[in-house]
Amino acid sequence: MSGTQRLPARVDVAVLGAGLAGLQCARELVGAGLDVVVLDPADAVGGRVRSEHVDGFTVDRGFQLLNPAYPAVRRWVDTSALGLQPLPAGVAARLDGGTSRVADPRREPRLLPATVRGALPLLRGAPAAARWGRPLLTRDHRGLVGRAARTRPDGSLRSALDAHGVRGDLRRVLDAFLAGVVLDDSGETSDHFALLLTRAFLDGTPSLPRAGMQALPDQLARGLGERLHLGRAAVALRSDDAGATVETEDGPVEARVVVVATSGVAAASLLGDSVLPPPATRGVVTHWWALPGDRVDPGPGLLHVDARSRPTGPLVNTAVVSAAAPSYAPRGQHLVQASALIGDGREVPDEATLRRHAAELLGAGASGWETVARHEVHDALPAQPAPLAHRRQQVLGPSLVVCGDHRDTASLQGALVSGHRAAGAVRRLVGAPAHGRR
Ligand SMILES: Cc1cc2nc3c(=O)[nH]c(=O)nc-3n(C[C@H](O)[C@H](O)[C@H](O)COP(=O)(O)OP(=O)(O)OC[C@H]3O[C@@H](n4cnc5c(N)ncnc54)[C@H](O)[C@@H]3O)c2cc1C
Repeated sequence: MSGTQRLPARVDVAVLGAGLAGLQCARELVGAGLDVVVLDPADAVGGRVRSEHVDGFTVDRGFQLLNPAYPAVRRWVDTSALGLQPLPAGVAARLDGGTSRVADPRREPRLLPATVRGALPLLRGAPAAARWGRPLLTRDHRGLVGRAARTRPDGSLRSALDAHGVRGDLRRVLDAFLAGVVLDDSGETSDHFALLLTRAFLDGTPSLPRAGMQALPDQLARGLGERLHLGRAAVALRSDDAGATVETEDGPVEARVVVVATSGVAAASLLGDSVLPPPATRGVVTHWWALPGDRVDPGPGLLHVDARSRPTGPLVNTAVVSAAAPSYAPRGQHLVQASALIGDGREVPDEATLRRHAAELLGAGASGWETVARHEVHDALPAQPAPLAHRRQQVLGPSLVVCGDHRDTASLQGALVSGHRAAGAVRRLVGAPAHGRR
């Protein structure tokens, strides 16, 4: 719904932000029979999960993947309706001695011969990596952090890998792979968060919906109907014991409770840094190219990382995305993505630098690549340093609740869980049952 509809003057709950957290919160509150309005300045739902369609290609706003094994995705998302296209459960790592392709033999039996060859240089580091990953022996996603905490207090990923003696090629592969997931190559990310992510990778195969990642928030928004007001931002906010007032350019909306479901940075600017300090964030640039079918051997669409002691470029990963997700490119063409970290004073790499590094890792020539899109996302993820502080406080007053990935883990899983927790908090504040009249 666009900003041409009239805003209601008074509702039970105003949700500010139609990212995954706001959408999950709003749909649960609607299910509880509450009168809800959702405001978002963007022209579509999704927040950081958006897709574009360019000349027959589908590109997401920054390369990202949906792991169907996330407990929140299992619980609240109808993944069968998304037409998921799994990426191979493995990685192609450029090592000092050549490229190793390693994949989970249970899920990628077709890659077994390559995996046997590729694993050889990594075997030396395997016992140490297994010691680091011992808490992963539990399959209980929720219990994992508790189990990890019993064996070791949370610290930085770097110090945990050092302490367990993970070194050499396998260490560089782990570092390179995880840097692309948490968008941090400093090693300062929480060890326990890295374990949680690794558990999710072991349990599920990250995938891309047929229509692009946008299909995920589109599904969550179904059912909100006229409650959803796009193209409308909250410009100011007041809340006290009696309720909340959200100011918009089209007039105020009064609510019994307001849920600030924006990013942490936007929430801090709405509420003030003293109420909610802005989180440190991580950024990424993703460049997307079209390649004619004969320009690159697409292979199975593995994620390629540069795990050499001296990488020759800035990429955290690259992949022929259309090899795993054919719906992302027109027939006869390939879609390649390459991503590099930005922020922390780094220079944002230009197209040619990204292309040369991607071509080298993919074993392709660097000519004939046509840009499809480029996304620089400066606040892509809240930093997740140790100690892991998920389940952070969300109720900030009798009529003020916040949610978003900055209140849980920096992930789709964290955003959904945070939205769910916010809905529970609102129901308690207004005294509504989980399932309402409507
Ligand atoms: C490039 C990239 C790659 C990623 N890869 C992965 C991945 O592979 N796996 C994974 O699990 N996670 C990944 N993530 C993280 C994941 O996308 C986020 O954690 C999640 O989408 C955050 O959702 P959210 O609802 O908390 O916030 P957001 O998506 O930021 O939603 C906040 C919403 O608030 C709106 N808003 C802002 N200001 C206002 C205002 N004043 N009034 C009203 N509304 C407002 C915004 O327009 C936005 O729609 C990635 C993120 C990026 C950017």
